[in-house]
Amino acid sequence: MTDTTAAPTGIPEKIRHYIGGEFVDSIDGDEFDVINPVDNRPYIKAASGKKADIDSAVASAKQAFDEGPWPRMLPRERARVLNKIADIAESRNQELAEMESFDSGLPITQARGQAARAAENFRFFADLIVAQVDDAFKVPGRQANYVNRKPIGVAGLITPWNTPFMLESWKLAPAIATGNTVVLKPAEFTPLSASLWPGIFEEAGLPTGVFNMVNGFGEEGFAGDSLVKHPDVPLISFTGESSTGQTIFANAAPWLKGLSMELGGKSPAVVFADADLDAAINATIFGVFSLNGERCTAGSRILVEESVYDEFVERYAAQAKRVKVGLPSDPDTEVAALVHPEHFEKVMSYVEIGKEEARLVAGGGRPEGFETGNFVAPTVFADVAPDARIFQEEIFGPVVAITPFKSDAEALQLANDTKYGLAAYIWTSDLKRAHNFSQAVESGMVWLNSNNVRDLRTPFGGVKASGLGHEGGYRSIDFYTEQQSVHINLGEVHNPVFGKQ
Ligand code: NAD
Repeated sequence: MTDTTAAPTGIPEKIRHYIGGEFVDSIDGDEFDVINPVDNRPYIKAASGKKADIDSAVASAKQAFDEGPWPRMLPRERARVLNKIADIAESRNQELAEMESFDSGLPITQARGQAARAAENFRFFADLIVAQVDDAFKVPGRQANYVNRKPIGVAGLITPWNTPFMLESWKLAPAIATGNTVVLKPAEFTPLSASLWPGIFEEAGLPTGVFNMVNGFGEEGFAGDSLVKHPDVPLISFTGESSTGQTIFANAAPWLKGLSMELGGKSPAVVFADADLDAAINATIFGVFSLNGERCTAGSRILVEESVYDEFVERYAAQAKRVKVGLPSDPDTEVAALVHPEHFEKVMSYVEIGKEEARLVAGGGRPEGFETGNFVAPTVFADVAPDARIFQEEIFGPVVAITPFKSDAEALQLANDTKYGLAAYIWTSDLKRAHNFSQAVESGMVWLNSNNVRDLRTPFGGVKASGLGHEGGYRSIDFYTEQQSVHINLGEVHNPVFGKQ
């Protein structure tokens, strides 16, 4: 496919930082190219932030926190602004989705869903802060205690390139809802949709300095690293690769910063012989091929009970071959282009590794008719051994490994046999087995006979190398607030008296 999509209207002339209510270039003038994944041609320049830009953004956010109205406003007043943000994002859904799809390669239909979810995140946290109740404890006649919940300060938000706008909203909404001010560092592969935040926030009436954004890279000396190491940033919420999480953990240690880490995954989908196979196949196809396979909770290892294994593999491969690969802008497209040529090379290298390690039953390279751009055909490997790299390592593309098992014990052992622990999907009609398995599986989230549907109130997070802490619902409110205990004496002071005359 040599054809490319036309750039959506409304793309800025350049992607700049946004600091103290102004779009600004990098202090040293440095810029980098951003590419379109359909043809890998640079289509825009973005400012590349360094320590000096982060210093400036943090100073703006700190001033807004120390002196501005936002942290001191009533929750209901802040909620009004958040609801306006949601309204504006909703009304600009198509524009947001077009930019996201053009920049990241996400199929447009899925990008629209993600943009809608971003708006919903703001609406949800607006509701939550108004309904917030905090604990109070009493000891009759002696003392009362209550919890004084306070915003913490400047939150550093560092986000990845998969579903960028939605994942940014997932951090921005609770961080500002609770009265903090923020510095966002969007992913360098996909800065386009983030360039719309300033306009949305200004229109909604968010006070100047509450939201600041520095674009650029993450590595040492660049924007991400400088944000993590800034002494005036007590909180870092990070979503990205587990190895980056380890670096950030170490770099934040000298300040003992509050850290929330949503990291990588290699989640198992376990299909027992008594499952509704039609539903399991549909869900596990969607689970790994939606969002181009660039989904942290992708069920990228499918474990199937031996007695239905051959049938499952045959039907699964046939359906995977029917998944519609197309241009990101085509509403019928189910899998489009991977975000960047570097990532494309990584995914393709795993496809080659898989051909050595297992039996290829669908895909295995570029889809027919797509000679350029970052297109990978939905790829299915069967008979994958647990020590295979494609079983153990996160590929983050449209590639799935299928492995047979003989017993519940073996299924559990295989499910837990990677360093990751983000999600698990279990398909069975046996209720006891479903609950027992979900309690034993090492994952932060379990979906029973269910696709990746999530109520915004539920905690989201992983165990093992998949994360640290939880966000979502009240867990986000807890992360972005300090819970100070206040003790009030209601009677005699009962402490022993030292130094009595
Ligand atoms: P990445 O770790 O390469 O980059 C993520 C962000 O961190 C980028 O903004 C990057 O610039 C920045 N960064 C890189 N090095 C840094 C450093 N030393 N200090 C500070 N910031 C730094 O991840 P990616 O490739 O953008 O995203 C894909 C990964 O994200 C996958 O592993 C995926 O599973 C994971 N992910 C997890 C979740 C979840 O909720 N668990 C959700 C989405 C994506």
